[in-house]
Amino acid sequence: MVEQNGLEMFCYQCSQTARGTGCTVRGVCGKVPTVARLIDNLFFAAKGMCAYLYHARELGYNDEEVNDYVRRALYATFTNVNFDPDDLFNMALEAGKMNIKTMALLKKAHIEKYGEPQPTKVKTGTVKGRGILVTGHSLKCLEELLKQTEGTGINIYTHSEMLPAHGYPGLKKYRHLVGNLGKAWFDQKQLFSKYPVAILATTNCALIPKDDYKDRMFTTGPVRLPGVQHIEGYDYSLVVKKAKSLPELPDAPGDVTLTTGFSRSVVLSLADKIVELVRKGKIRRFFVVGGCDSPHKNAPYYRELVEKLPKDTVVLTLACGKYRFNDLGLGDIDGIPRLIDLGQCNDAIVALEIAQALADAFGVSVNELPLSIVLSWMEQKAVAIFWSLLSLGLKNMFIGPIVPAFFNNEITNRIVESYNLRLISSVDEDLKILLKW
Ligand code: SF4
Ligand code: SF4
Repeated sequence: MVEQNGLEMFCYQCSQTARGTGCTVRGVCGKVPTVARLIDNLFFAAKGMCAYLYHARELGYNDEEVNDYVRRALYATFTNVNFDPDDLFNMALEAGKMNIKTMALLKKAHIEKYGEPQPTKVKTGTVKGRGILVTGHSLKCLEELLKQTEGTGINIYTHSEMLPAHGYPGLKKYRHLVGNLGKAWFDQKQLFSKYPVAILATTNCALIPKDDYKDRMFTTGPVRLPGVQHIEGYDYSLVVKKAKSLPELPDAPGDVTLTTGFSRSVVLSLADKIVELVRKGKIRRFFVVGGCDSPHKNAPYYRELVEKLPKDTVVLTLACGKYRFNDLGLGDIDGIPRLIDLGQCNDAIVALEIAQALADAFGVSVNELPLSIVLSWMEQKAVAIFWSLLSLGLKNMFIGPIVPAFFNNEITNRIVESYNLRLISSVDEDLKILLKW
């Protein structure tokens, strides 16, 4: 792990703040840097969980235990309430547990509303006709848009974390859901300029738009962007009207076809075969490689890692980090695909359920499985997932592209000592460790 530099802490949440600007070394209230950072961490983990909770509630699903935890967690970040680093660390682990509940709730909501995902090939490139491009994570918004555009001749495209929508029976049944454009969230400015379509941003990871497309962009749900029209509720007639006013796209198939939609049931239907292939030595190891992508200089690591993995390994992936390598043709091992896309970041719950089922099949713990987890993180949902993994006691994970800046050395060392967490370094060096375990 790397040493953390910069301010020891930064807190300006009360009127006692040093020099009226911010406590940066130790709080006027007595708060020490590790406590300040654990409070920030707790706030971030709770925020991440709330994003999943928001989407579950959007579909009519709720969990009072999670609601209660969020209230307790936020109150613990209040001034002069909690100065106990051990308790704040344990509350972060509890946040991880609550986030597992929340991800499971959202998965239940998605499956009960749209069916369990099925492996689905998704075209890239464009189909002749007018289009609307949907970015973000909200399947509910996409469903409403699909209903409102059925029979209009407008084609719907997904961007970034909306890709897994193509695997859900209740969404893929719409024939005008024609494909996926672009890669992870941060290509928006270039992508949205390139295609003359209407754009609907449904959740986080929306970028402040360039002038050339902001008049054909719309926000909905929690998103607000300067100069962009916001739509309250789910009436997307303005988006449809805008799409109708724009030129047609040409028939221009993309270079790759992506495959998404591997659900828990689909993977576990292959469990006997997977166990047999592991016992025969045909599958050496599983890797969970995924999480949030970012334009960080270390992010190309994830593609290089997947490219260099031996052919007797299987990669499970999720979230937009998959765009670093989901165009690679990794083939299969006796019919088991070597690249298995489990879905959005909240589908980390599916990866955990599959890992537990495999552990049960082998009669070992998840830590004893031939499984390595290599995470990329960017924002606060990933923080919640990170603590979920720690709350399950998972060890030997690699994390990148950097150590969270809100951890200090004391927090990092505690996690390293308890969970043997490692920061990604060079692919070749990491592979020596990853393939040895
Ligand atoms: S809560 Fe404490 S650390 Fe934060 S601004 Fe107030 S005195 Fe400073
Ligand atoms: S996986 Fe993370 S970085 Fe990627 S779009 Fe979702 S929230 Fe954003």
